[in-house]
Amino acid sequence: MTSNAFEELVMRLKQLPGLGARSAERIALHLLLERREKLDALVGALKTAGEKLRRCKCCGNLCEGEHCALCLDASRKHDVLCVVEEVPDLLAIERAGNYRGRYHVLHGKLSPLRKIGPDELNIATLSGRFSSGEITEVILALGNDIEGEATCHYLRETVIPQSMAVSRIGFGLPSGATLMFADPATLRSALSSRKHL
Ligand SMILES: [Zn+2]
Repeated sequence: MTSNAFEELVMRLKQLPGLGARSAERIALHLLLERREKLDALVGALKTAGEKLRRCKCCGNLCEGEHCALCLDASRKHDVLCVVEEVPDLLAIERAGNYRGRYHVLHGKLSPLRKIGPDELNIATLSGRFSSGEITEVILALGNDIEGEATCHYLRETVIPQSMAVSRIGFGLPSGATLMFADPATLRSALSSRKHL
């Protein structure tokens, strides 16, 4: 089959995380040939989500308004802040079910190789959150690879006030692991057995 439109679609799908060339082709063919009726619904859902969803002004989570449901939830603890790399990490910790504080999503981690410095991450807002004096404890729930380590070190030394109680999860997680792929039981144990920095 030769079609520029098809090639373009497969190329776009291939750029999505977790999709290789064969999966991208399968999805494209599925939508175009087998389930044509699903195509409009999918396009519509993508368009609506793209228009409505944005980053929460406070924590960086995905939401429809100015602030996300977690930031607006008055029943959650105001004094504990859990810092994560990405929104799926936040969702994984929520699924684990034993954390009731607030979050802050960095949208990445420091990486000199990929030219990601503090200005590319959601760090300025994080500094601002400490100035209210409401937060007394920070949990760094970043991956335990080299970039995660470097990011934790940077936050501890440069961003988080020295007086703050800071801990780091990681116990029970394999080296180099990403939080979003950890099962709830492992995450619960990682959260409850964190080490102080
Ligand atoms: Zn929020």
